[in-house]
Order: sequence, then C-alpha cells, then structure tokens
Amino acid sequence: MNKQALAVLNEVFGYPEFRGHQAAVIEHVTGGGDALVLMPTGSGKSLCYQIPALLREGMGVVVSPLISLMQDQVAALAELGVRAAFLNSTLSWTEVAEIEARARRGELDLLYVAPERLLTERCLTLLAASRLALIAIDEAHCVSQWGHDFRPEYLQLSVLKERFPGVPRIALTATADAHTRGEILERLQLDGARVFVSSFDRPNIRYRIVEKDDGRRQLVDFIRTEHAGEAGIVYCLSRKKVDETASFLETQGIAALAYHAGMESDTRRRHQERFQREDAIVMVATIAFGMGIDKPDVRFVAHLDLPKSVEGYYQETGRAGRDGLAADAWMAYGLQDVVQLRRMIQESEAGEAQKRIQAAKLDAMLGLCETAECRRVRLLGYFGETASPCGNCDTCLDPPATFDGTLAAQQLLSCVYRTGQRFGAMHVIDVLRGEATDKATERGHDRLSTFGIGRERSEREWRAIVRQCIALGILEIDHDAYGALRLTSDSRGVLRAERSIALRAWRESKRSARRARTAAGAGELSAEALQLFERLRAWRLEAARRHGVPAYVIFHDATLREIARVRPSSLDLLRGISGIGARKLEAYGEEIVGLVQL
Ligand code: ADP
Ligand code: ZN
Repeated sequence: MNKQALAVLNEVFGYPEFRGHQAAVIEHVTGGGDALVLMPTGSGKSLCYQIPALLREGMGVVVSPLISLMQDQVAALAELGVRAAFLNSTLSWTEVAEIEARARRGELDLLYVAPERLLTERCLTLLAASRLALIAIDEAHCVSQWGHDFRPEYLQLSVLKERFPGVPRIALTATADAHTRGEILERLQLDGARVFVSSFDRPNIRYRIVEKDDGRRQLVDFIRTEHAGEAGIVYCLSRKKVDETASFLETQGIAALAYHAGMESDTRRRHQERFQREDAIVMVATIAFGMGIDKPDVRFVAHLDLPKSVEGYYQETGRAGRDGLAADAWMAYGLQDVVQLRRMIQESEAGEAQKRIQAAKLDAMLGLCETAECRRVRLLGYFGETASPCGNCDTCLDPPATFDGTLAAQQLLSCVYRTGQRFGAMHVIDVLRGEATDKATERGHDRLSTFGIGRERSEREWRAIVRQCIALGILEIDHDAYGALRLTSDSRGVLRAERSIALRAWRESKRSARRARTAAGAGELSAEALQLFERLRAWRLEAARRHGVPAYVIFHDATLREIARVRPSSLDLLRGISGIGARKLEAYGEEIVGLVQL
C-alpha cells in the first residue's frame, strides 16, 4: 500500500519522496483510521488527505474555511490531472447543480466545501448519496473558541461523525499548542484518532529582530538590498499605518498594496488576488490579512510593529517560504511599541483575567526580542520544543556580546525610584544623562543624586537597557499612569546587589545585511543558470495568464530553480525534476525543454 502511495506522489505530484509524517499519516488514513495532524505551515498537509482520497474508493470531502483559496487549490489539482471541484457561495445555481451531479455520479476525487455549506441539509444529503473516501477538516483550530480564528460553524462539524460513520476523518492544523489540540479532539469527536505531531521548526526562515529607529526607512533598505522584485508581507498594527506605509513604498518604487478590514471588500479582494497571482507584490497589511494566504513563494515577512504574542508572530512569519526556499522574518521594534501595546491592553474591554493573559503574552514576545540566545531556540521553547542553536538567525549569525549590566541596571532603577515612579522612559533617561530640561528643573530632578550618573551612555543605549530590564521583569510599565516606569518586586534584589544582571552590549544597528540576493533566493545559481531561471519565470507568468491561474500553480520557484541548475535536455531527464508529475510533463515538457536548449 505504501508503494501505491509513493507511486501517486511520484506520478501525480512529481515529488521524489515523502516528508516528515506524510507517509505515516497517509498510510493510517488510507487504511481507514481517523487522524489529527499538526504540522507547521508549508510542510505539506494537503498531501496527507489528497493522496488517501486518490487511493481510497470514492470522493474525498475537504472542509475549508478559506473560500478564496478553494479556487486556486482546485485549479492546482486540475493542473495535476486530479478531478476536483469546490462548492461555495461564489458559484451560480447551475454551476452548483452541475458539481452536485458529478459528485453523485462518482466523477470527483476531491470536493472542497465551506463549513456553512457543508452543514446544510442539501449538502449532507448529497454526501450521503455519494461514496465518500474520507473527510478532511482543514484549519481545524477554527473550532477553538479561544483562538483568533474561531468559526462557530466548526463546532457543528461533530455531526460528521454521526452522519458518516465508517468514513475516516482527518483534522489538520498548524496551530501547535496542547490546549487547542485537546479542543479539536473533543469538539470534533475524534476520540480514537491517531495524533501526528511534527516539529514546528521552519529551518528555511531566518529570524531577525532589529532596533527600530526610522522603521519605514529601515524597511525600504531591507527590501531593496535583499528582496528587490520579490513577494513579501509587511505587518503593521493600525489601518492608518498600513495605508501610509503602502504609499511610502510606492514612492520608493516598490510595488506595494494595502490590506485591512477598513477597506471596501471589493478593493481588498482585488489586492489579495493580485498578491496571490503576481510575482513580486509587497502586501502591507494588518493581521486581518491572514489565513487566506496560501502563496508558497512569499520571500519575506516584515513586522513594523511588535506583534501581541509569540503565537501571532510565529503564525505571521510562518507565511514566508512555504516552498521551503530561503526566506526572511524581519522585524523592527522599539520601546514605544511596548508602551503602545501595554496601553492597548489596559484600555481594552477585556476582563482582568484576560488582560493578565495578554500582558503575559506580550512579556514573552518582548523576551524573544531582547534575548541574546538563538531566536529559534526561544521560539520553539515557547511551544514546548527543545532545540539547539540554529545558525540561521541574527543572534546565531552575529552573536551579541554581553556585559555585566548590574551597575547600569541599578542606576536606572534608582533613578526611576527617585523620580517617584511617575515618568516614562524619555524623562528618566534625560535625568540619567543629566539633561537639564524644563521638566527636570521644574521638578527639582536636576538636584537628585541620580542626575547625570549615566552621562557616558547615549540615549539609545539607555533605551536598550530599559527594554531589557522590562524583559527581565525588574522594571515595568505602569499603564494606568501613561506609560510611567515603575519598580517590580524583583527590583529590590538588583538594587541591593544581590543579583547580577547580564545585558546585551550596545552597538550601532548596521545597515541591512550586505547579503544582497537576486530573485527568489537564487543566490546559489550560476550566472548562466540565473538567466535560464529568469527565462523560465517569464514563460511561467505567460502560461499562468493563459490558464487564468496563479503563477505558482504552474510550477513553484523550487522546480524552476532545479530546472535552471540541471538543464534537462529531454523529457526523460525533465521527469526526474522534483515537482514535475506526469500531467505537467505532458502539458509543458516540450516548451520547457525548448527553453533550456535556447
Ligand atoms: P501546508 O498546507 O502544510 O501549509 P502545503 O500542503 O500547501 O502545506 O504544501 C506546501 C508545499 O510543499 C506545496 O507546494 C507542496 O506541493 C509541497 N510539498 C508537499 N509535500 C511535498 C513533498 N513530499 N515533496 C516535495 N514538495 C512537497
Ligand atoms: Zn539561531
């Protein structure tokens, strides 16, 4: 049976081998078992139900909340010669009737359905009248009421067990935490399901967090030097900032579009579609731009504001590099971000318990930003995984020096204390540096013993120390008092020199890495191969237009890169390239071999 699965992988999908748990999941589900599959984004969840659907008799039903994506997924499957269709609200009555008839006649391998439609009596009756190979529930974390993607209809999907006993069900998600996992098993009544948990590491993503000084400038610099002509996502906190940033990028000659919930839904859809279909759009967005993105060749995700939690950060950065090629997660952040987010939490309508949870999540995010250890070790640790230093994050590549910051921390803490714990970082730093501002003289702060004791450090150096002390929990922001700094119960130990504090040594932030790269991480290609790669990309864009599908549906960058490197001069040689299945070989083989030989 495993051999059959492998044959489908080779023949239909054109991939040489399974990754991670794919083979095990496919074997289990093909044999009729239920499964819960937890795999990070981009690791190949879809094959886990697509291949069993092809191997088992009958039609596979895929429940997915992402209407905008169904069309592209079905188009991609059609390109592979798989008989797939979707039912959602974008179809006309006659189109629906036609697809229903095909399902009844057993002419479909896969049927994608939105949850609200699946739950209609009409759809349930249709499925009861069809032979079902399996039921896949994608984005299964939508069942969690505590998650940010909660969909009430998902709660009702438990009817699937009662209505279709004996049909294997497979739930899939990229959300890692144990709590959500338990909720999925319980609410979807997957009691006997086997659970497959993969490592959540995304080794091809390089994590970098830089100190913000002029965020937009730093962003432009980053895009220009490292990602010119490539697709990326820039996340901002507010709609206003999204609009401003997108216009700014445009003035800098970078093709950028905006996306947020305050825009007309038509414009929003158009922007999403262009991002999805074209090669090199930078989407500037609030977190409203989220689950609906299935673009494999997003080369970077940039954050211009601090995300509210590590979960959010990981999910957002996870949209980069789904094709497995090198990608960047880049963030610029500063103390102001922390103050702003703290205020937002405080001013929200949430109850006290909820606010405490949000504050703790923000603390963890801050800890990630200020760590001197490997970012990936921290990230994975947050999700309960242990790892060793990765060699592919900023702290691994360019380890920050640390110094004994006990004295600096003591100076800061006592200055906060002496000024009455009523002032924000700006004023406290002015006093430390001995700036005789009006505010300082009016309040007599120029006569304090801490006035000027920190003169030898620059303002930015002190800001970095303030952030680290907050991250260490020896200083906190009082959100009731307009972001005033105040001491915590842990401050005392530092002030009494019972505890020493290691801090990251300050250094001027460098300009964006010199590691300038050309299109799609093509750094390792020779100049000649690069030329062919560009020719193939141009051809692909043309082919995609002809077929009315996104470029990556024709071929992924990874496949084009391999063609450019290997230069297969015959159909037989082309067959050996990862990503070239039987159907694509037939459809595009001649054209590609022609391009290679040009
Ligand atoms: P997920 O749903 O987990 O985010 P996808 O199912 O969209 O991921 O797969 C991500 C990408 O990896 C897709 O482009 C897919 O074709 C590719 N892929 C999946 N499995 C394999 C494999 N075994 N070998 C090579 N590429 C694969
Ligand atoms: Zn690292």
